[in-house]
This record gives sequence, C-alpha cells and structure tokens, in this order.
Amino acid sequence: MDALHLYNTLSGKKEKFEAIKPPFVGLYVCGPTVYSNVHLGNCRTFISFDLINRYLRYLGYQVRYVRNITDAGHLENDAEVGEDKISKKARLESLEPMQIVQTYSIDFRDKMEVFNTLPPDIEPTATGHIVEQIDIIKDIMDKGLAYEINGSVYFDVLKYSETDNYGILSGRKIDELLSGSRALDGQDEKKNAVDFALWKKASPSHIMRWNSPWGEGFPGWHLECSVMSTKYLGESFDIHGGGMDLKFPHHECEIAQNKAANGTHAVKYWLHGNMLTFEGTKMSKSLGNSILPNELFSGDHKLLNKGFDPMVVRFFMLQAHYRSTLDFSNEALEASEKGFQRLMAAFETLHSLDVSDTSDIDSDSYKSLFEGAMNDDFNSPILISHMFDLVKAINSVADGRMTINQATKDGLTELMQHFVVDILGLTPSKQGDGAALIDGLMDVIIDVRNRSRLNKDWATSDAIRDQLKDLNIVVKDGKDGAKWEAQ
Ligand code: AMP
Ligand code: ZN
Repeated sequence: MDALHLYNTLSGKKEKFEAIKPPFVGLYVCGPTVYSNVHLGNCRTFISFDLINRYLRYLGYQVRYVRNITDAGHLENDAEVGEDKISKKARLESLEPMQIVQTYSIDFRDKMEVFNTLPPDIEPTATGHIVEQIDIIKDIMDKGLAYEINGSVYFDVLKYSETDNYGILSGRKIDELLSGSRALDGQDEKKNAVDFALWKKASPSHIMRWNSPWGEGFPGWHLECSVMSTKYLGESFDIHGGGMDLKFPHHECEIAQNKAANGTHAVKYWLHGNMLTFEGTKMSKSLGNSILPNELFSGDHKLLNKGFDPMVVRFFMLQAHYRSTLDFSNEALEASEKGFQRLMAAFETLHSLDVSDTSDIDSDSYKSLFEGAMNDDFNSPILISHMFDLVKAINSVADGRMTINQATKDGLTELMQHFVVDILGLTPSKQGDGAALIDGLMDVIIDVRNRSRLNKDWATSDAIRDQLKDLNIVVKDGKDGAKWEAQ
C-alpha cells in the first residue's frame, strides 16, 4: 500500500489515515494501573503502540503521544463496586497509596526503557486531574445525562441512548446489556444496572478521597481518559489506542462521556492491540499465568527453559501483527532468538560488504516492500519476512554469489537503520554483549589457571578455583583442560 491505512475498530474496516491537522497527530494510549509490576501481556500492548508511534514519526508526522498512568479510580475486577486496586495494595502492605504508585510507576518506566519504547510526550496521572474530572462531571450533569445519588454520580446510559448509540464501538446492544446485567450489591442505588460511575462516594475505609460538590469521593475509572486525552490533544483528536480488553466498557464509556460533555465522539481512529496469551488463555495477573519481564530475562520462572534478551522478546512480539493474538512459548522465543541474531548479523555484514560496479539488489524495491507492509495497518510480520529476503541477498553478496554497488549499499544501510532501529526499535542486544564479554573473560581466567597448573604453581591455580567458587562458578578439571560452569 502506498499510503498508510489502519484498521479502525469504530468502523470495523481498514481506512486510509488522514490526520485531522497534518503534520500533527494526536495519539492517546491507555496506560497501566500502577498497583503491581507490569507483566509481559501489558508490555505487549505498549510495544505495539510504540511501533505505531515510531512509524507515524518515520512518515514525518509530528506526533504528540499521551499515555496516562492510572493511579486512582480503577476498582478490583474492573468492576463498578469494590476496592480501589491501589488502595487495596497499600492496605495489604501497610504503605501509603502514593508509595505503591511510585514503586510501580518506576518499574513500568524501567521496563518500557529496557524494551526500547519511546517515552510518551505527556504522561498524565488521574490524581493530577481531579479538578478537571469534577468539571466534566458538572458539565455532563448540566446536560441532563448524569445524576447524583447518595454522594455518587452516575452516567445515565438510557437517557444517552435516546439520542446516541451506547455500543457504537463495541457493538453491544443496549437491550442485551440491560437483560444481561443484574443489580449487584451496592449497585442498587443506580437507576439502571448499565449506568456507570463518574464519581463514587468514598466509604469511611476508602483511603484515596477528594472533596467534590457531592462530598468526599473519587472519580470513576473511565473518566480520567476522557479528560486527559481531550485536555492534551483537543476535543477531536486522531488516534486512541489500548488493549482489546479495554474496548468495553472502558472505551465505550469514554466515547459516551466525550459526546455528552463536548458534543463530539472525540476520536477519529480507535486502535486495539490483541492479547498475549499462554496456552491460549489471556496472560493476566489475576489468572496467575503472567510472566514478569525480569523473569523472562533471567529465565527464573517455572515455565521457562532459559532467559532471553529484551530485544529478542521485543522481536518476538513484533513478529506477530498487533491485532492478532500471540501465544507465549519457549519454542517460539527460541525461534525468535535465532531470527533476531540472523537479522542483526546481516545488518553487521552489510556494513562490511565489498562493492562492485554492478548490483544484483535494488534498494528502492525493498524500500517500497517495507513501507507497503507498514502502510497496511502496521503489518510488522510481513515487514520482517521482507527483511529476511534481504538478509538472504546480503549473505549471498558476502558469499560472492551476488554483487552490490556503493549506491545500493548506502541505500540499504539507510533503509535498515530506519526500519530495524528507528521503526522496529531493535538495537544490538546489550545483554548478549555482556554474556559474550563474560565468556571471553572466563576464557582468559581459565587459560591463566591452566598455565599455572602446567608450571605446577598449585597455589595460584587453587586460589583461582576458590575465588571463582565464591562467585558460584565451579571449575572442573578434565583431560582436555578445565571447564567452568555458573551454578
Ligand atoms: P491495566 O494495567 O490492567 O490497566 O492494563 C494495562 C494495559 O495492558 C491495557 O491496555 C490492557 O489492555 C493491556 N493488557 C493486559 N493484559 C494483556 C495481555 N495479556 N496482552 C496484551 N495486553 C494486555
Ligand atoms: Zn483509558
């Protein structure tokens, strides 16, 4: 495709991308709820949107990327009643809720950096926008689309549905929602079970609470994203993203809130990333099948045979299209590791190729293949398959079976820099370099020890063995010399 097309969940179709105010693009992505360490499933969604952000920038758009931090209002089980996820963790650990927020925000940013995702331009928090959230609630109430009961304020979904379509994004039908939802304890006060909270009265035990015209309470989960996206990107903006599981109710409610407050649906293109699964089931903390990035890097997890470099993990994720599910397995990661190494090795080889007067490769045709794949709804797996065709061609030149001229070599070097480094965000593996360095250093140490044994310098050879043992490295002497093993 020669122009960017993207799949808009709102229309259910691939559409040509037309920025509202080119060259600017507003991109909002729902960020994490910072009550625990991010798991690999969460990371997949943010890596998917990192690819999208990077490609938009490659195309020359001036992207303003806003990704929030949810630090209040998200209740257990994504429900309308129950304890705030952050408050609960704070209560269990006897910590201040903002300590929990700080701990897991740091973890989140750290993991995003390790996976080489570009930071958002603005990273707003829900607690930093309580005033704006109260303002929008007043606005929605003034329009007659929200009502107060016992210090809580609810969005009147049925009233809204008289003139608008609650279900426009998710395809849910209001009648089915009504018949399917039963009043749960504590929800009785709502006019209808489908209504959702804009503001909740804080029970005496609820720690995170703010003053409002309706008494002390806290904002509903969906409200922060409506408020922060439109505050920083305008009442109409280009792209809103998040994981597929947020489509309903979170994003559906955002649309209803925006329409009720500002008279516009706000978002032109809705993009949803699919889930990382394990044996076909969504990876999630609550299901107990989640893996943390650090566990994957070290290999220290019952489901893992070994550790993997962050760049290999990123490559593994990008080998699937963002709208397809991706199943996690050791085998798939091992295959990605080989693929990643082959790709990066070819990138290195390209730099050292000898040039001829003739060229069997054409860099322009690869450029149009690469761009064509990404223009087709950010199809990174197709992009990577074209890259492997190029890898074969590069290796053929290195073997002397094909030729390349200087102009093509320069063109391909620039192309690979753009697509491998700038767009896929892959850099030569740092961890891999560290492992190679340790291997090299150990070879030196073992060599010194072998020499000292040949010279019958037992004091030195024993000292080396004992000091390595303190570092949990065991040296085993055999007839072919010594071998080492980390315990
Ligand atoms: P949360 O911290 O629960 O608000 O989730 C943060 C983001 O991670 C949301 O966009 C979710 O859709 C996404 N997410 C959660 N689980 C997975 C998963 N297994 N695969 C991909 N994305 C996920
Ligand atoms: Zn959100």
